[in-house]
Amino acid sequence: MSHIPSVKLFEEAKKLAVDIKTRESEIKNKERSQIPQQEMPAQDPIERIGNMEEVTYGYSAEQAYVEAMRCLQCKNAPCIKGCPVGINIPAFVAQITKGDYQRSVGIIKESSLLPAICGRVCPQEVQCQEPCTLGKILKDKNKSVSIGRLERFVADWERQQGKVSIPEIKPSTGKNIAIVGSGPAGITVAADVRREGHKVVMFEAFHKPGGVIVYGIPEFRMPKRIVEDEMKTLEKMGVEIRTNFLVGRTRKLTDLLEKDGFDAVFIGTGAGLPRFMNIEGENLVGVFSANEYLTRANLMKAYERGKADTPIFQARKVAVLGGGNVAMDSARMAKRIGAQKVSIVYRRTEVEMPARIEEVAHAKEEGIEFHLLKNAQKILGDERGCVKAMECISYELGEPDESGRRRPVVIKGSESIMEVDTVIIAIGNDSNPLIKQTTQALVTNKWGNIIVDENCKTSIDRVYAGGDIVLGAATVILAMGQGRIAARAINNLLEGRT
Ligand code: FAD
Ligand code: SF4
Repeated sequence: MSHIPSVKLFEEAKKLAVDIKTRESEIKNKERSQIPQQEMPAQDPIERIGNMEEVTYGYSAEQAYVEAMRCLQCKNAPCIKGCPVGINIPAFVAQITKGDYQRSVGIIKESSLLPAICGRVCPQEVQCQEPCTLGKILKDKNKSVSIGRLERFVADWERQQGKVSIPEIKPSTGKNIAIVGSGPAGITVAADVRREGHKVVMFEAFHKPGGVIVYGIPEFRMPKRIVEDEMKTLEKMGVEIRTNFLVGRTRKLTDLLEKDGFDAVFIGTGAGLPRFMNIEGENLVGVFSANEYLTRANLMKAYERGKADTPIFQARKVAVLGGGNVAMDSARMAKRIGAQKVSIVYRRTEVEMPARIEEVAHAKEEGIEFHLLKNAQKILGDERGCVKAMECISYELGEPDESGRRRPVVIKGSESIMEVDTVIIAIGNDSNPLIKQTTQALVTNKWGNIIVDENCKTSIDRVYAGGDIVLGAATVILAMGQGRIAARAINNLLEGRT
């Protein structure tokens, strides 16, 4: 594995850290804003497409110190308002400059349970880093303080010390809570209600808990051992996790409340139902939803060819339709599984892409081709029913639509053929309809998302919901934020405060 670019970054940071430390108390804001932003060290692109290991290494202690010294410690701290769970960012960053990492991670954990996960996958550039004063001074929001990288640094430090503490649990209340779904929303609720002394049982349809961060986001971006450790912490807290348990089939939601003795239920079942293009050729061999492709590769470890039981299609020329994180993950996974040519096909431009900037940059470094202002309108098959090509059409950008992004407008007569043998569709997910179909009284909107009030309470008494099943496909931190709200409401209900 080549470490050369990263070693250079580490050496530069070492020199800078010594220089800054000797004059720390004299350093004024003007000089702070001139301290160079610390790049994230990463595996060499040529080598990393041949392995599944995490792409980024994380900051060294010196890099974290230098980056933390860039923070202006603004009194109004706009970054806190940009964080969906309101982490006290200037306070945790200041503790890094003092070398008190334990205190730093403690401050984060007052607001966020999963900093090693959020520090890796949160879209900080559109959350806490977007309003950062430093980014505004430098007139480049990409030059804001690297809050997410610093969060990851202290969370990883805590894990490496083996110092992850098990929260204190209050004496048993005799109340029982069922959590349906073990993603970030369910994990947050489980921890917050268990702390109050309630018994918690978590039901998960898959054979492994963790939700999308286990079965969707690939190992090279989100190492599974981190999620496994979080699940172990929950179990050490006394949360019972029942896998291979599909609520709606194994037991109905109403059974949990009326027959199984649960005092409250939280539904955090996510948005796992893939959307399709509804174009000709979508049933051909070689067409996948991103969900299926990534689940096979991640959860079933299909990338371990020869060892895993689950087969995966041996693709050579792949087109991934979509421009979000799911599309980037699918494209980068296909490359690692051995595809020779992988293309992202997206009907807008890079500016409108919902994927994180870092993921787009990593995909480009790994040789993923970007075909922008283009989309598939037909998938063409050979005589055996296998994909052989895609008929595409080109677009130009028109007026903004309801999402504020400029609407793609078809350019007539711009059809072209792209030769591919695999098409991965990554254009979004809807919620799984099973619980709704088996629970008449549960009110959902036209997309199947559960409707909740400001406390995340559903239309059914004692039933709460949060995360992607309510928000539609969203983010880890937003799912956790809703989990926090629901847990507070459940705790209040069971303690007779409502
Ligand atoms: P989920 O994580 O979807 O978990 C729901 C769980 O419920 C699943 O384990 C499912 O098996 C289980 N379940 C469903 N139905 C039932 C049932 N009937 N009975 C029992 N269990 C059930 N977000 C980011 O912030 N940053 C990223 O970089 C990012 N990248 C992503 C990449 C991919 C490939 C995908 C798919 C999503 C990505 N997201 C990202 C989105 C993020 O992962 C989700 O918003 C988040 O996981 C939602 O959490 P959740 O708890 O609501 O649901
Ligand atoms: Fe520091 Fe930026 Fe937050 Fe100001 S806005 S406190 S510079 S992270």
